[in-house]
Formats: sequence, structure tokens, C-alpha cells
Amino acid sequence: MKKYITTPIYYTNGAPHIGHAYTTILADVFKKFEQMKGNDVFFSTGTDEHGQKNQHSCEASGLSADEFLTRQSQLFRDLFDRMGIDYDYFVRTTSEEHKKVVRTVLQDLFDRGLIIKKSYEGLYCEGCEQFKKKCDLTEEGLCPDHLKAPKVISEENYFFRLEPYRQWLKEFIALNPDWITPTNYAKEVLGMLEEPLDDLCIFRPKDRVWLGIELPFDKDFVTYIWFDALINYISTLKFGENVEFNDYWKSSYHLLAKDILKPHCIYWPIMLKAIGIEPVSRCIVHGYWIGEGGVKMSKSLGNVVDPNEVIDIMGVEPLRFYLINNMSLSNDSPISIALLRQGYKLLANNLGNLQMRVLKMVDKNLEGVIPAGISLTAEDEKLLTDISSDFKSVYVKDSSLETAVDLASKIMTACNQVNAYFAANEPWVLAKNPENMDRFKQVIYTTLDALRLIATALYPLMPNSSKSILASLDVKNEKVEAQFEAKGLGEGKITVPNPLFPFLPE
Ligand SMILES: [Zn+2]
Repeated sequence: MKKYITTPIYYTNGAPHIGHAYTTILADVFKKFEQMKGNDVFFSTGTDEHGQKNQHSCEASGLSADEFLTRQSQLFRDLFDRMGIDYDYFVRTTSEEHKKVVRTVLQDLFDRGLIIKKSYEGLYCEGCEQFKKKCDLTEEGLCPDHLKAPKVISEENYFFRLEPYRQWLKEFIALNPDWITPTNYAKEVLGMLEEPLDDLCIFRPKDRVWLGIELPFDKDFVTYIWFDALINYISTLKFGENVEFNDYWKSSYHLLAKDILKPHCIYWPIMLKAIGIEPVSRCIVHGYWIGEGGVKMSKSLGNVVDPNEVIDIMGVEPLRFYLINNMSLSNDSPISIALLRQGYKLLANNLGNLQMRVLKMVDKNLEGVIPAGISLTAEDEKLLTDISSDFKSVYVKDSSLETAVDLASKIMTACNQVNAYFAANEPWVLAKNPENMDRFKQVIYTTLDALRLIATALYPLMPNSSKSILASLDVKNEKVEAQFEAKGLGEGKITVPNPLFPFLPE
């Protein structure tokens, strides 16, 4: 089955932060998870290179637009490469392929009378690049996000009407309760749909914003962010040209942080309806990462967690694991270097040590040979079938892709079970007495096979660690497949590798 997974495209006016890293890692975990289940996944990410904020940053840089945008876009690609992100397509909204689809869509909507021109006076916040209503402002009349007074602007502009579609969208969401997950965000969107929707001002006069896609029907205007950025989700699939468009679109997933809930869950489905395309299959929303002290990260508080800095300290895979293990999608979640170090220790103690201890015992007492093909006790069998069925329940063919979010905690649970089993059976004591050799082999085989199950399930989260553990167990791992049968570990010879999670200096 074909599936299409997207991240939002990221503004190039700044460097990538932990929020960008998280959404993109989440998409990569979903992709690898779906691939292990045998699905064909197309994953797109990219950069949003138009609009006033990009323009201001570009002007401040002293570079040409092309130089500035290429440099900024590359910061994201570099981080994604470092994080092991296996995207299939990297969108740049300044690319000709994207612009062409935007122009075609705009011309079509204009020709059908769905884009109207009218004069408008409003309060415009340059930070938000949006007109604000009085009720959106603070008591002092400032934009709550930028704490600046918006400018009064009066101009002729083009608008896309949302209100005619409001009732349809409300019914659609009510009929498809899983369309927005977690459900707290669906409730929020339904709340927004209780009030009439204002016409969406979708363009900017070129004398104010020059960095954008010129309208095909009015050269004095460029498109405003939404009719440019959101269309990336269909321009990436080459809408209008690609015969496989529908195959991917009918299982399509947008991942997004909660700050862009309204454009993705109200503007976008309405835009698609007007264009004549079904809504995306699912919107998967997540909260923010909150810095030390339980407050928003900021440079002045010194609690910013920079993904590149984390990777310098501990490598990329512990970061990937921490982010998936610790974000609860429906809420904000805490992160700091200290918490990441705790997460690293957890991996080292529960998984890394287990691997090293058992492998060293096999090396020392069994000349490295895996004791496959022996009979096990009921207790051994139970441990393996418990872990096996727990992972199988996640990796079933038709499981929803968000079940991958639970993988990290399931892996930690399995590690705890195996560690408890290992400690209770004391194989290091058994090894001392030749009479106990049969029992020793049973405990060792059970632990090795459990480790294989854990390493297999770990693949979407920590692909290199997964492959490395499987290699140490002499399991072929060019392509890690969802093999979760208990007692699946066959004959072979283990190797004792370097520790996966070596001691981290403070
Ligand atoms: Zn603002």
C-alpha cells in the first residue's frame, strides 16, 4: 500500500530548532515503521522560502535572495542528513515545479470566481504577516505574539471565502473523529468553526512584499503564505501530472505542531475542497518542547536545546529515542540537556549493558556460539512470547502509524522484563558449575532471542543501533524486517562490539 507522509515546510528566516528536528524525526520514524510493515512510503519535507519574514532576514543578511535562501535551506538539509532522515523529496517553494502548481491552482480558482477582489482596511501585524481582529489584540492593542501595535492598512486585495464551506467542514470533522489526532486538537478546531469564518486575504501587494510568487492574473501582487506553502503538499506529488497522485493522496498524513492547527485543519481542507481534492487522510498534531524551568525556550533564559549541540554531545540516535519516548502528542513536553543525559543513561543501563553482559558471557563460556535449537522452560518461553506478541501487536499490517509513537515505551518495558529475568536467573553463577550448563544455555539463548526482538522493534527509532545489535547476534540485517516470532534466533556466532552507549563525560 502506498502512503504519503509530510512535515510542514520550515521557514528559512532562522536556523532549525528542536521543534523542527522533532517533527522531522517523527516523520522518519513513521516512514521506517511503515516500510517494515511492507508499505511503500513517500516522505516529503522542505523549506518555505517566501514571505515577509524571509524577506526581512534576507535584506538584513546583505546576500541576494538566491544566496540567502540556498544557504538557509541547506541548514535544514544538513541537520536532517545528520539526523539520518530518509526523506524522498525536499521541497523548496522557490523551485519552478512548485511555483507552476501554485499558479495553475490560483488561475483555476480565479477563473471559477472563487477568488474575489475588494478593498479592505485592517490592523496588520508585520511579525505575524497577518491582519488582526481587535479581539485578537491585548488590552493595550498590541499583537499578543509580538507585543507590537499593528499598523492600520487600507488596500485593495484578493480574498478567498471560507464561510461557504464552514458547515461542510464541521460535518466532515464530526463524521471523521480520527481525522485530527490527538482528539483534543479536533475539539479545538471544532470550537473555531462555531463562529463565522472571515474571508482569507491571500495575497500581498508587491510594493510591501517582493519575495513571493507573482499572481498569474495580477502582476502587482504575490501570494501570501498559505496559498503558497500549503500547496507544497500537492505540488510535491506533481498534482495535475502524476497518474499516481491519488494512490498516495488517499493515505496521506500531515504532521504538524499545534501552532499551525488552523491553517492545516481549516484553511487547507477548504482550499482542497475548492480545488476539487479530498482532504488529507489524517492530521497528526503535537505540542511544543518546553525548556528547563517549565517555560518556553529562549536565548535570554539560556534554556535553548540546539539539536546540533545535542548530537555533538551524544550522537543522533539517543536524541531520536528521547524525542519519541518523551513527547506526549496531546501536551507540551519537557526537554533539557540534563533530561537528555538521563535518557541516554536509561538506554545505556537498560539496553547497552544487557547486550554487553550477555555477549561477553557467550564469548567466555560458549566460544561465541549461539546455543540455538535447545528446548526452553515454560518461564523462558513465556518471556519470549510476551515480548513477541507485544511487538507484533504494534507491527500488524493495518495498525495506524501513530502506534509507532508507543514503540519507545514498549522497548523500555521489554528491556526491563529481560533485565529482571537475567538478574533472577543469575547465568554468571550457573556458568561456574558444569552441571548447570544446560540451564545456563537456556538462559543465554532466551536473553539473546529477546535482544533480537528488541533490536528489531528498535529499527524505526534507532536504525544504526538496531542494525549493530542484530549484527552482534549474527542476524542478517541489510533490510530490517518485522520478524517477531519467538525463538527466531538461529545458529551463529556472536561478536562482542564496542559499547553502543559509552560513558558520557559531563
Ligand atoms: Zn504579531
